[in-house]
Amino acid sequence: MSEREFARAAELLSLKTLDITRSRRISIRLDIKEFYSKLANLGFFSPKRNSPLSVPRLIFLNDYEIISFYNSLIRGYLNWFRCADNFTSAKNIIWSLRMSCLKTLARKHKKNLKWVLNIFTVNVSVKTPGGNKVSLPSIHEITQLNSKFLLSDQLKQPDADSLFKKYSLRLHSSRFLFSKCAVKDCCNTDIEIHHVKKLARRIDSSGKINVLTSNNKRLSGIGAILSAVNRKQIPLCSFHHLEFEIGNYSPLDTDFISKVYKIDCSNLNFEEIFLGRQSN
Ligand SMILES: [Zn+2]
Ligand SMILES: [Zn+2]
Repeated sequence: MSEREFARAAELLSLKTLDITRSRRISIRLDIKEFYSKLANLGFFSPKRNSPLSVPRLIFLNDYEIISFYNSLIRGYLNWFRCADNFTSAKNIIWSLRMSCLKTLARKHKKNLKWVLNIFTVNVSVKTPGGNKVSLPSIHEITQLNSKFLLSDQLKQPDADSLFKKYSLRLHSSRFLFSKCAVKDCCNTDIEIHHVKKLARRIDSSGKINVLTSNNKRLSGIGAILSAVNRKQIPLCSFHHLEFEIGNYSPLDTDFISKVYKIDCSNLNFEEIFLGRQSN
């Protein structure tokens, strides 16, 4: 690497010191304090409590997506930190991100850290639905890493914002439909999809949606709700799926439903529709 490239590396690392000694040894240091304030701005760390934080905007993702989000971020930062002389202290930052990941999983499952460590281990790994393993870089792997100069194209700082964007886009994809129970505040993860074959939906001259079959029979139950929103499937955890099937209504998450079906359902009374009591 040329001296100019070193200077560029230093600039990229927003360094405090760039010492060019008489022996032409160049020292590059990562400003740890400044980096923590960056993590605080991104919502990973609380400077007040001096502690890693869970990230609420990630809890609607699947476990493996949360872990793969942190994995991309951590691997990016590790690469970027490796040319710093204080790489060993920079590893503490990685530890904070690992804790933030565990706390996000704990928050998602409404469990404590002990539970999360028991399920995912300290290396934070999980199987994807496709059977592959997703995990953070293991503690062992990180311990083995030494500081070294990398190629200049590896000196690009990972862009946490675009990672957030990439992962929040998944929330709007159809896969998201299958990842959460449609009942308000339900965090159960055993999601089943209830399908209906045929919708019964009529819009009268005033624009009002009626859930009526061709022989004017009023529908009730999940079929009526799906007809009202004009969609053929709804994700429910196994508990709520059964409840709905036997006719017990629980309030649906209207924000979630608006988002996944891309409709405005503010004027629909799901409970009345479910019970078949919708007035004409
Ligand atoms: Zn069903
Ligand atoms: Zn549920």
